[in-house]
Amino acid sequence: MTNTHTTTGLVCAHHHLYSSLARGMPAPKVAPRHFLSVLENIWWKLDAALDHDMIYWSAALGAAEALLSGTTAIIDHHESPNCIEGSLDIIHAACTDIGIRVIPCYGVTDRWNDEGKLQKVKSTSPMTRGAKIGLAESKRYLSSGRPALVGVHAAFTCSDETLETASELATQFHTGVHIHVAEGPDDQGAEDRLQKYANEDWLIVHGVHLQKPIVGTIVHNPRSNMNNSVGYARPAQWSNRIALGSDGIDSNMMAEFQLAFVAGRADDISFSPDLAWEWLWNGSHLVPETQSDLVTWNYPRMDSSWHVAYTTSLHVTDVSINNEYVLSAGNLTKVDLKEIRRKAEEQSQRLHHALAMSE
Ligand SMILES: [Zn+2]
Repeated sequence: MTNTHTTTGLVCAHHHLYSSLARGMPAPKVAPRHFLSVLENIWWKLDAALDHDMIYWSAALGAAEALLSGTTAIIDHHESPNCIEGSLDIIHAACTDIGIRVIPCYGVTDRWNDEGKLQKVKSTSPMTRGAKIGLAESKRYLSSGRPALVGVHAAFTCSDETLETASELATQFHTGVHIHVAEGPDDQGAEDRLQKYANEDWLIVHGVHLQKPIVGTIVHNPRSNMNNSVGYARPAQWSNRIALGSDGIDSNMMAEFQLAFVAGRADDISFSPDLAWEWLWNGSHLVPETQSDLVTWNYPRMDSSWHVAYTTSLHVTDVSINNEYVLSAGNLTKVDLKEIRRKAEEQSQRLHHALAMSE
């Protein structure tokens, strides 16, 4: 019996490649008390500090690590409010240099006022300049014909005008909207505002506090949900297609599957790994090209959810995308991993320094 098994490529259905440089960041001075303070004190400061070089090397590191985990397509959700124009091209370039598929989007929001300060957003607020530039970036990228989605941060940071314009843009380009929905209590009830726009092409990310059904693929991110203490999403309650995402915490989708299984089991002893397995492979409906990608594992039973659910030390040795080996015998073929880690570390120090200066 052979000791390896080859599968098709995995899909990370919700990623934030810009978060690769956040690792090792000094802890916030005041420990967060709730999810909104995690957003305000960590992520919204970090994304505001991003520049061209940080975006490139963060994406390159995230993309390289994705290949090492057998993930051949990343559906990315990007925000860099002080470096919007061209940001999707930077991410595309980094992913292409590594050799991975990427479906990017720019996550628009009205939470930054026209002076660049955080503001509370009402549904009736006018669209901000930042949201307009973000939508223009989406349109520019989509016009090139490359696969992409229209990104929206979340309903609670967007006016109705922005939600409607984003939805119309997606329809115009025959694609979907990629949006966080009801991740934390602050976005509870988002589905009431989104229902009239949503369709099967939408990616409904998290849905932890969803109270009513909404159409689209629900992307479940168990590791992130635990990390942010937002609660268990219980995705099995919905009839939607469910896919798995990492929400920026790497793109090891087999690890995400294992956690989706454990989280399901913690909630319900009858939860089967077959269900989490179905969620994992549903990613291939979102990026069908991954069905022709080849991933070779160091374990012979990668066809069995019950084996994989309980097996650690799974490693990927080879990855072929579009008939090209981008990982061979554990080594990236197009780039030098050590060099990527070195450059990413340089940018990470720049980013952490910029954040320390902004305090
Ligand atoms: Zn996210």
